[in-house]
Amino acid sequence: MSGVLVVTGGGRGIGAAIAELGGARGYKVCVNYSRAMDRAAAVVESIRDQGGRAIAVRADVADESDVVRMFREVDDNLGPVSALVNNAGIDIPPTDFADLDPAKLERLFAVNVFGAFLSAREAIKRMSTARGGAGGVIVNISSRASVHGRLVREVPYAASKGAIDAMTITLANEVAPQGIRVATIRPGIIVTEIFDSIGGEAALKEIAKTGVPMGRPGQAREIANAALWLCSEEASYVTGAILDVGGGR
Ligand code: NDP
Repeated sequence: MSGVLVVTGGGRGIGAAIAELGGARGYKVCVNYSRAMDRAAAVVESIRDQGGRAIAVRADVADESDVVRMFREVDDNLGPVSALVNNAGIDIPPTDFADLDPAKLERLFAVNVFGAFLSAREAIKRMSTARGGAGGVIVNISSRASVHGRLVREVPYAASKGAIDAMTITLANEVAPQGIRVATIRPGIIVTEIFDSIGGEAALKEIAKTGVPMGRPGQAREIANAALWLCSEEASYVTGAILDVGGGR
């Protein structure tokens, strides 16, 4: 019995790979999206085609009322969440630090940081054995950007992911006695649409030749494998952990 998996930003990229693998492993999956309903619907369809159960739920993870409603929809349609993957994330165009725009900064942190906080809060309410839940797992998707210091003019993105790393360690300690494990994956360079504006996969292959010890970018499925392992009983003694999945980057 695998339980109920919520994947934020599950309509494409890394989130879609996690949702699809989760469906294949027997989870009932909530595929969250904020704008691209058609993409989330396609992921749901592919899970159902393989005999799984899935729903798509629209929610901007930065909006508290959206997040609260999403978890209620999950309760009503799939049952209480047992695994949450905080995957939804955005970047802002590279900017000199001296020219930072507070509105863009606020939106970045609202999605990448507070979105993960709000979703984790709603999940913990349901998972916590201290509140009548059966325990669970929270996996955050951070980034190697939080530590490698190479993303020049991308301080806000790196810092938002650093906040996720810190949240993981402290939250894991808080909720371990409540039957909840919390872990983070720091992906390296993974081929997804997040890089479309800089030339997509071809550009990533070039960057990876020198920027990644393994010499290639990663695939979304390689992050999904790690995420589903962290969610599984095979990782039953893993909490507060940060797992780098970046080909050595
Ligand atoms: P994509 O840009 O391909 O996908 C991002 C996903 O997040 C989309 O499904 C999007 O849905 C969703 N999303 C964005 N904003 C919101 C929001 N406010 N509420 C709900 N969902 C939202 O990105 P990736 O798959 O590449 O990235 C996934 C995660 O992995 C991100 O957190 C990213 O920072 C991280 N990461 C990615 C790396 C990479 O190399 N690709 C490397 C390191 C980390 P919609 O279109 O509906 O808004």
